Amino acid sequence: MAKTFIEGIAQKLRIIPNLDREHDSGNYGPLRKYPAAEEWNEHIELDANAWPERVERKYSLVPTTCFNCESACGLLAYVDKETGQVSKFEGNPHHPGSRGRNCAKGPATINQIQDTERIMHPMRRVGARGNGGWERISWDEALDEISAKIRASLKTGAVDRVVYHVGRPGHEGFMNRVLRAWGVDGHNSHTNICSAGARTGYALWHKFDRPSPDHTNAKVILLTSSHLETGHYFNPHAQRILEGMMDGAKLIVIDPRLSNTAAMADHWLPTWPGSEPALFLAWAKMILERGLYDREFMETQVNWDAWMKAVHPEEACEFERFIELLIVEYAEYTPEFAAEECRIPVEQVIEAGEVVAGAGSRLCTH
Ligand code: SF4
Repeated sequence: MAKTFIEGIAQKLRIIPNLDREHDSGNYGPLRKYPAAEEWNEHIELDANAWPERVERKYSLVPTTCFNCESACGLLAYVDKETGQVSKFEGNPHHPGSRGRNCAKGPATINQIQDTERIMHPMRRVGARGNGGWERISWDEALDEISAKIRASLKTGAVDRVVYHVGRPGHEGFMNRVLRAWGVDGHNSHTNICSAGARTGYALWHKFDRPSPDHTNAKVILLTSSHLETGHYFNPHAQRILEGMMDGAKLIVIDPRLSNTAAMADHWLPTWPGSEPALFLAWAKMILERGLYDREFMETQVNWDAWMKAVHPEEACEFERFIELLIVEYAEYTPEFAAEECRIPVEQVIEAGEVVAGAGSRLCTH
């Protein structure tokens, strides 16, 4: 497109970039979302600090991971080929979870690696605990000393005297095996503290504490609390929740607060804290009574026969009878019961329950 007179003046005064360079832009090329993977070993960008000089800098783009939350989004470290230092972090478009999209903490990882107080070496306490004295030791010294202490404890049979604590557990499958091999049950982490309540619920319900449902293809997305903008896995989940909503999915948010997530919901249920199970039970009763449950899943994946034998040994162990008895079991969990427990209008319990009940197998919960 031809330049206007004003643009010509602005370009000469270097108020705006040189528009004539569009076809003369060298290796850094026209505007684009991400450098192509073929260029990652030799990526060229202009040095922003050298502006208005057009100084090219060469980078090697190295895939890495952000671990500022358990989403573990993909990052690309821009390693300056001249200095060998990381200059910045950007999203990695080839990461299957984050797909190049990160929250602000991802690029801010540069602050961690450049932190002047970052501990770069093993340190051993000097003097009494609390007096602030530390000395630098080698990795070999640290490993020898720590492993000798662990071994001495284990040899006495005092497995309860070894506690393993890690900041963010990203390697737990492996570490759990090590601890089990030692016979140690002292495993703690940031995660055990910050999300133990939610994870316990997941673990008890479906034996897996880190669910990632298919929000993109959901018909109804049911969020308990504020996962869209602040919960765990929020970035990879949030982008898929938005995709699902753009495709027509309804969003139901159960949260006492009118959070950012709740403000975006089709249905916001400000339940009294701790009353959520009453709501779930009432909705389960609605689904059962209307026959909207997934029969094949219930029949093959739920231990209904064990329940029949334990609670109703006098009855025929048949799935149809199980459903009839389950409806009797849930009889008290009426919408009125849930409304009273949750302190929300009964109409809202029924309205949102009908949306949940009508979702079929395309209900995503988190
Ligand atoms: S959501 Fe943000 S903090 Fe969490 S891993 Fe992704 S970029 Fe890092």
